[in-house]
Amino acid sequence: MTRQTPLRAIRGMHDLLPDDSARWQQLEDRARALLERYGYTEMRTPLVEQSELFKRSIGEVTDIVEKEMYSFEDRGGDQLSLRPEGTASCVRAAIEHSLLDQPRRIWYRGPMFRRERPQRGRYRQFHQIGVEVFGLTGPDIDLEVILLTRRLWEALGLTDLRLELNSLGDSAERAAYRQQLVAYLRQHEAQLDDDSRRRLETNPLRVLDSKNPDLAEIIAQAPSLIDALGSDSRAHFEALCAGLERAGLAYEINPRLVRGLDYYNRTVFEWITDALGAQGTVCAGGRYDGLVEQLGGRATPAVGFALGLERLLELSETEPPPSIDAYLIAVGEQANAAAMPIAEQIRDALPELRLLCHCGGGSFKSQFKRADRSGAKVALVLGDDELAQQRIGIKPLRAPASDDPTNTGPAKSEQSKTEQTSVALDALADRLPDFL
Ligand code: ATP
Ligand code: MG
Repeated sequence: MTRQTPLRAIRGMHDLLPDDSARWQQLEDRARALLERYGYTEMRTPLVEQSELFKRSIGEVTDIVEKEMYSFEDRGGDQLSLRPEGTASCVRAAIEHSLLDQPRRIWYRGPMFRRERPQRGRYRQFHQIGVEVFGLTGPDIDLEVILLTRRLWEALGLTDLRLELNSLGDSAERAAYRQQLVAYLRQHEAQLDDDSRRRLETNPLRVLDSKNPDLAEIIAQAPSLIDALGSDSRAHFEALCAGLERAGLAYEINPRLVRGLDYYNRTVFEWITDALGAQGTVCAGGRYDGLVEQLGGRATPAVGFALGLERLLELSETEPPPSIDAYLIAVGEQANAAAMPIAEQIRDALPELRLLCHCGGGSFKSQFKRADRSGAKVALVLGDDELAQQRIGIKPLRAPASDDPTNTGPAKSEQSKTEQTSVALDALADRLPDFL
């Protein structure tokens, strides 16, 4: 048979390779542990939903729905889309399964799909972790979700993120502001770009979100949404700001922060870094008190956020530990035959140990080479002689991480790095931890 041309992954969609998975798992584990500490429980929803769900929630005239969704008709004629974000599905599921009879703190994670132009920090399949809280109306819960994100940055060792905040008011306040904004933008219509002129008709608040530097001046002079807030929205926003101050969390009010999805009201926020170029928002969220009702549920206040894992990973520099601890080498006919059962015994005795058992035979030299490359801290060495005496060798493969970096004297570790110690097989479980 002639060799076929290999196929490639779809543009903007990436394989998570074995060498990279430890970093992803570390991030996911830390986020999960933290969310559990705050009393959030995970929900998983399908990757595919009716297209209608996203049209009704995100909004027909948003970038996502107009041009970024992966939509298709399935064989039964249903109009379906790969989910571009997680909130709509969470709300749909919460209504469908009657979860809204009491306050709920939910989190989710997984891939999202948007057909954007791939570039650094922007992909067509990307991953989010998100939080949705239902049934709580006050600024205290807005504060909680923001404090939770701050703690997450701490857990990930991220220090250069800044918090931007705005309030979009309620829908009546926004409608009034919209008129003011449209009147203002019409005065400058000649200077607007095509995109903004189109949005002026369909979704004028999004003009504030334009990334075109030529519009920066016009946008900076535009009337401010915060000035258009009524007393309740203003009190909510001020209470949140006061809470942030009490918690010692610095923020910046950005009156141009409007978010790209239609469903937000009152509080909106973003965590932004300057270290990722144009794709600087790593986490975005806010309140969406009208969405549950809009999707057919009983009116229920809600607040949430989503963070982009690819962008967070690009920022964080933590090195995850090597993925295995020990590598079992066996040379000789009997030793080879005994290796796998002995490995099982070791795993029984040391449930935490990550042990890789060599397969495929070969000389000591070639097996040691594999052991070394595996990243394991020690090789466990089994030859026919050892086996006959029910013993096994422990050979450190790398200097153990020194507890005391100032100790530069003739290293004991240098010696133990090269020496092989023979121990009785039934003492291995006791002795091995000293070498790890
Ligand atoms: P942006 O302004 O960068 O397009 P957005 O407002 O569309 O972001 P949201 O829908 O609020 O983003 O998603 C929340 C987070 O998910 C973003 O802050 C970002 O970290 C991440 N994210 C969104 N779109 C992508 C993408 N195409 N590739 C990678 N990460 C993304
Ligand atoms: Mg976007």
